[in-house]
Amino acid sequence: MVSVADRNAAAASDPVSWWWLETEKLRSQAPVCLPLSGERQVDVVIVGGGFTGLWTALALKERQPCLNIALLEEHTCGSGASGKNGGNVSGYWSSLPSLVRLLGADAALNVAKAGTRAQDAIRAFATRPGIDVWWREDGNMRIATAASHDEKIDDYISTFTALGISNMAIRLTPEQVAERFRSPAVRGGVYFSEGAIVHPARLALALRDEALRLGVTIHEHSPMVRLDCGDVNRVRTPAGALLARDVVLATNVKLATDVEVSANLCVFSSYALMTAPATAELEAMGWAGNEGITDLRMFLHYFRKTPDGRVLMGSGSGPVGYKGRVDNPQLYSDQASAERAISGLRNLLPTLGTVAIEKVWGAPIDMAPDRLPFFRTRQHYRIHYGCGYSGHGVNATYIGGQCLASLVLNENDYWANLPFCTRKLSAFPPEPWRTLGARTVRHAILNCEEAEHTSRHPSITSRFIASLPAKLGLRLGTR
Ligand SMILES: Cc1cc2nc3c(=O)[nH]c(=O)nc-3n(C[C@H](O)[C@H](O)[C@H](O)COP(=O)(O)OP(=O)(O)OC[C@H]3O[C@@H](n4cnc5c(N)ncnc54)[C@H](O)[C@@H]3O)c2cc1C
Repeated sequence: MVSVADRNAAAASDPVSWWWLETEKLRSQAPVCLPLSGERQVDVVIVGGGFTGLWTALALKERQPCLNIALLEEHTCGSGASGKNGGNVSGYWSSLPSLVRLLGADAALNVAKAGTRAQDAIRAFATRPGIDVWWREDGNMRIATAASHDEKIDDYISTFTALGISNMAIRLTPEQVAERFRSPAVRGGVYFSEGAIVHPARLALALRDEALRLGVTIHEHSPMVRLDCGDVNRVRTPAGALLARDVVLATNVKLATDVEVSANLCVFSSYALMTAPATAELEAMGWAGNEGITDLRMFLHYFRKTPDGRVLMGSGSGPVGYKGRVDNPQLYSDQASAERAISGLRNLLPTLGTVAIEKVWGAPIDMAPDRLPFFRTRQHYRIHYGCGYSGHGVNATYIGGQCLASLVLNENDYWANLPFCTRKLSAFPPEPWRTLGARTVRHAILNCEEAEHTSRHPSITSRFIASLPAKLGLRLGTR
């Protein structure tokens, strides 16, 4: 049962994250990036000032310091998903079983190793002197909370064993999970040593500072309103235009309405909450470390602590955006999705008692059919784009920055040859079947998962519908 206070917190969900509010003062002290006015020629225009756009700018500047780069951001850097996420940073080891099925063992291992390179690079940046992005690194844990999750743990262990890397996925008994945090809901887990947590809005701000320091020109409050493609591309904003041979579209969910991308991208949403500080309760449940934790649901719960003793809990079960559009208010404020995040908090961490929830927020996420991001160059033009993080982008946006930089510079290197840039993309069904199908399947999966957690039997219809994406070769869901 959801309490009145929790119901009110869910009703107050909106697009603004707790992280964003926490950085208000820092942002007010940061250098101002004026809107674009007039027309100018540069080498590269990056559209979008989230992690993808900012890491791309940094990668390009590292490789070719003399490049003249301008970045256009519709609002403020970090105001999209990059400033709203759970801040769980991990690569692809915890996706290895499904990656092996999708790509084969060698390519799956390449993807996982690219995630490790990203993790190393993000750590190196986040722990530089003078940078305070609340980086804490105690690994990543997936926990089982229903009987069907036991099979998923077996799948992890057998995959890692078959690949000869059994030391990288450690099976945890309920007692071993309890040594990290005690929860009556947990029946086991898997531990991956690669994993960290971060303050995502502070990370975005730090990346913005670094881009400015390296000489990238950033124009905020400068939406791209039109892109004229040609040998020289023209990116128009309300008060100006940038001309460049290369343009990078790092606009995340907005790419879901792009003609070339829309078949491969659809929009779901994710909901997160932040509690008030609860240091004594965290101590009582023995949660001393800083693991990023997710359960093994399809529409999973993700959670972590903050250094000041709060808990962030999220649920990747928000509504679907019709035709890839992001103007549906339910993507940002939806009572039922917000309540699922709150139930996750109360059921998974009952020792927190009735600790107050200070903020609940929702935001759209960019889903690829196989839940892996992709980075491509548009046919005939030097327009590059990257998206499809599928709710798992804090680590992967670094990979995105490197891949996009390789595409801009025409480099046939390590990054450009990863499956992120080379695999054949599968497509979602066309509209309206896509949204109708996604909504029906989402509803069925939620029914099945809820039934499992309350020891009921899901209906045959729900089970059948929930099994359809797998039968169609899609890895749908979130994160
Ligand atoms: C609630 C939530 C929780 C999540 N939790 C996690 C997590 O714990 N771990 C994890 O790994 N991932 C998580 N993610 C996913 C992760 O946040 C994203 O994958 C990642 O931030 C994507 O970065 P991006 O730069 O591609 O997109 P964004 O951060 O959305 O950046 C895109 C930018 O483009 C700008 N833009 C759009 N259109 C235009 C235009 N026309 N002109 C100019 N600018 C434009 C936007 O304003 C925005 O700033 C979560 C996502 C959400 C929503």
